[in-house]
Amino acid sequence: MSRPNQSQDPECIFCKIIAGQIPCYELHQDERALAFLDIGPLSKAHSLVVPKAHATTIDELSSEDAAACGAILPRLSKAITTATGAPACNILQNNGALAGQAVGHVHFHVIPRFDPAQPEAEEGVGLRFDWTPNKLEADKAQALQSAIRQGL
Ligand code: 5GP
Ligand code: ZN
Repeated sequence: MSRPNQSQDPECIFCKIIAGQIPCYELHQDERALAFLDIGPLSKAHSLVVPKAHATTIDELSSEDAAACGAILPRLSKAITTATGAPACNILQNNGALAGQAVGHVHFHVIPRFDPAQPEAEEGVGLRFDWTPNKLEADKAQALQSAIRQGL
């Protein structure tokens, strides 16, 4: 395994958190990843996992840093849902302004979901989204499959 790239962007808010220049409510850290409470939670204990090395979007992330973020998500999700009593959670990762990305340092949201009847839902029920599926047609699917596989 290669040595971690710890490159930082001095203008980046999450790099400043990683460097300890801005405080956070830390939940976990290891050689490559940091997890902390989101300052603007959609629901109780909404949290973020970030790679320590600066990368803007997921396509820029090294496999090692992606693996480090991914490795903590199962345990962190369980700890968050256990601590809050949330029956469900979403893992969300936004890339680009059109996808809702506000902070240009890759991050994975862990967003607990609460039943509106739960007392914890007073702090927000969690992520809401409009999911309107279309139909996947065979000819388009094959063309997409081919184009995407060429890029891997
Ligand atoms: P995005 O829209 O980029 O996917 O989400 C960025 C998230 O970062 C938001 O949920 C926002 O509340 C959170 N955030 C922005 N600045 C800070 C900060 O200084 N500290 C913490 N803990 N969270 C932040
Ligand atoms: Zn950064």
